[in-house]
Amino acid sequence: MDKLVYRFNNLGGTTDKKSKDVLGGKGANLAQMAKLGLPVPPGFTISTKVCEYFYKNNKKIPKKVINQSKKEINLIEKITKNKFGDSSNPLLISVRSGSRVSMPGMMDTILNLGLNDKTVIGLKNKTRNGRFAKDSYRRLIQMYGNVVLGIESHYFEELIENYKLTKGVIQDTELTEEDWDGLIKNFKDVVKEKTKKEFPQNVNEQLLKSIGAVFLSWNSKRAKTYRKINYIPDHWGTAVNVQAMVFGNMGEDCATGVAFTRNPSNGKKEIFGEYLINAQGEDVVAGTRTPKNLLSMSKSIPKIFQQLKKIFKQLEKKYKDMQDIEFTVENNKLWMLQTRSGKRTAKAAIKIAVDMVQEKLISNREAILRIDPNTLDTLLHPTLDEKAEKKVIATGLPASPGAASGKVTFSADDAERLKEQMQETILVRIETSPEDINGMHAAKGILTARGGMTSHAAVIARGMGKPCVSGSSEIKIDYKNKVFKSGDYEIKEGDVITIDGGSGKVMFGKVPTVKPDITGDFSKIMSWADQYRKLKVRTNSETPADTRIARDFGAEGIGLCRTEHMFFDEKRIISVRQMILSKTLEDRKEALAKLLPYQKNDFVEIFKIMNGLPVTVRLLDPPLHEFLPKTDKDIDDVAKELNMSHNDIKSRITELHEQNPMLGHRGCRLGISFPEIYHMQCEAIFEALAECKKKRIKLVIPEIMIPLVSTAAEIQILRNLVNNTAKEIQKKRSIKIKYYVGTMIELPRAAIRAKDIAKYADFFSFGTNDLTQTTYGISRDDSGKFLNDYVENKIFNKDPFVSIDERGVGELIKIATERGRLEKKSLKLGICGEHGGDPASIEFCERAKLNYISCSPYRVPVARLAAAQAYLKKKK
Ligand code: ADP
Ligand code: MG
Ligand code: MG
Repeated sequence: MDKLVYRFNNLGGTTDKKSKDVLGGKGANLAQMAKLGLPVPPGFTISTKVCEYFYKNNKKIPKKVINQSKKEINLIEKITKNKFGDSSNPLLISVRSGSRVSMPGMMDTILNLGLNDKTVIGLKNKTRNGRFAKDSYRRLIQMYGNVVLGIESHYFEELIENYKLTKGVIQDTELTEEDWDGLIKNFKDVVKEKTKKEFPQNVNEQLLKSIGAVFLSWNSKRAKTYRKINYIPDHWGTAVNVQAMVFGNMGEDCATGVAFTRNPSNGKKEIFGEYLINAQGEDVVAGTRTPKNLLSMSKSIPKIFQQLKKIFKQLEKKYKDMQDIEFTVENNKLWMLQTRSGKRTAKAAIKIAVDMVQEKLISNREAILRIDPNTLDTLLHPTLDEKAEKKVIATGLPASPGAASGKVTFSADDAERLKEQMQETILVRIETSPEDINGMHAAKGILTARGGMTSHAAVIARGMGKPCVSGSSEIKIDYKNKVFKSGDYEIKEGDVITIDGGSGKVMFGKVPTVKPDITGDFSKIMSWADQYRKLKVRTNSETPADTRIARDFGAEGIGLCRTEHMFFDEKRIISVRQMILSKTLEDRKEALAKLLPYQKNDFVEIFKIMNGLPVTVRLLDPPLHEFLPKTDKDIDDVAKELNMSHNDIKSRITELHEQNPMLGHRGCRLGISFPEIYHMQCEAIFEALAECKKKRIKLVIPEIMIPLVSTAAEIQILRNLVNNTAKEIQKKRSIKIKYYVGTMIELPRAAIRAKDIAKYADFFSFGTNDLTQTTYGISRDDSGKFLNDYVENKIFNKDPFVSIDERGVGELIKIATERGRLEKKSLKLGICGEHGGDPASIEFCERAKLNYISCSPYRVPVARLAAAQAYLKKKK
């Protein structure tokens, strides 16, 4: 069997990837810190492999691990000169979870193990601090009761709250040894009542049960949810770290805190953290006491503050990244309890990466790889309009930047439910806990009344890239009546508010927003990305407004211009309807002639903005009935306008009805049946070119795309139509027109017959939305009903409409690419469709050797970065 238990200090080279797999992030980093000579309480790590064994073997901990753990405890005893379970010199330990990647607060940890009715007296005598000893003991009963015995913590919390109320004190620190004695008795009664057993006095039993409980917490509901949201595999498991306790709650020369080596909100190079004097571990993040800014430590305990500053530097140098740190001060001695790469906002990620390149800590390649492309989204979207009128109703801490508006909701479940109804919400909570994860995911933003910049709400929101205002103490939440008050304002559930996580302001109503700033560090990262990436990035766009946004974001062409979107305009739809309703060719041509100038002008506009860059124009694709009036009133309006009878129109609608429109009379099939439609569209494209030439606008070479082709014959016929139309216009306007003709590959047959099709195509664009639908035989619009079940049952890893199914759809793309290029070496290949903006799919496109990706305008920077990462990862 492999090694299963690892001691902190004797481990060499523990930061490579493998050791995190085995030791978990926390364990690997504790070992690494020990190796750097930093003050880490002695301890050991039980490997993640044991977790795997545990679940495969009826939740048993292997004998070998138990024996080795005992040996390691002996060693800790020697180092600390204490003894586990000894009534005069008791050793106390913590049992901590820690998986490969950090899952903050999702799994369990138990502190102060080794205390019982006897050892607590020993601890008291040794430290001459009875209050501290008893406080520690009650914490153990509470945590052990909760984590190991499954007793909900509110049973304990309420006892403390009620007691404080009776005694008339506010802070826990005001309670005396005698107070805690009484509470310990009550706590033990709770344990007895809930479990029908006494709180275990045997310290070895405490230890073993705690190790088991940490393994079990890997499969807690919240941990599972977190893994699902973050795509963390279930089989990884958690390691368990066992470590000597150090105490921040022994008196006024003790403290505990968390810190980031840089500001995780904006990335500035400044110490950022919070601490509490005379407190233990979780007190800072739990929001029970409001912590102090770490900077004030330079006055309260300056020596420790200086030491911390030095360590921060050392850690950044070692890990070459911003660190998130936990520490405790025991009687003026600093102990390091955790370090990990800190979660940060997209804005901070970019600033830190650029700064670290300048500080020569990392290379610009490394900087590119550091930034999660998906998080860029938060930077690209609008921020609050400074000039807009704002009715500020409260302020809190600027915990996670960005602005969000939505209806107030007070529970995670409500937020989830409303999201299903496409409603935007702001989740308002006194404080959040890991159970709220689902709701935080569903809400547009989060507002809490309690908790600091490192509270659960703040950390999770930053990780999710969601705006968050935390610790807004002015607001008083009444969960029962579903309202919150702030000064004179009373906000009810369903009222719309806006929060600005950059300033901490909470405003009434929906506040308008402005365009984001994409200069400075952002554009630096983008220019580095452009240096490396091989894939070109285009956009899917058909309106001048979208096209401009995409160009500003760096789009290098249009990969998909859906001409039908131009048909829905109010002034045009009537002609479109006339065209569809016409019974004769003459009528149809007349209607098309009315559409021609509109369509031409659209193209002129777009060609002008694109200024010579490639533009792929897709000819009409959707089934015609999509354009027809739906309600009786609409039908009446159209009837009047077109001088037809209501019934005439109705019967034409019935005629056009299809059982399965997505597989019906659409795409190139329309071009085959009604060549005059495609003729008009090509005429518009070429006439637009003629006009651009006249206006001395740099000419684009349009790429005319025929949709839904499955046979070579279809594209052969339609290519002829395009060629003939081009000839007509060339002659009429006496100009030379350059253009390409190609097809979308969105049917499996087209992928398979790519070689024949390539004879008539200059390019292929993979329409992966339809290709996914037709490969799986699943309609995207109807998949909502069962997609979740498929993800739940692990049939799908991810929604295949979001991230490309490499093994099926991807295989077809590879086949088409190979066969297409076999026929025509110069064949240009790209992908449009939702997947073009998905980093995982972009990685696939790089490996599949496509030429470009095309995505919606706001995804363009995401795609630029993801394409650079894809290339760098491939090279690695
Ligand atoms: P989490 O992953 O939820 O942060 P941790 O294992 O880091 O859980 O522990 C929870 C809290 O207990 C942290 O504040 C940590 O610093 C503190 N803690 C853990 N082990 C010890 C220890 N040996 N001595 C003192 N405090 C500890
Ligand atoms: Mg921790
Ligand atoms: Mg399609």
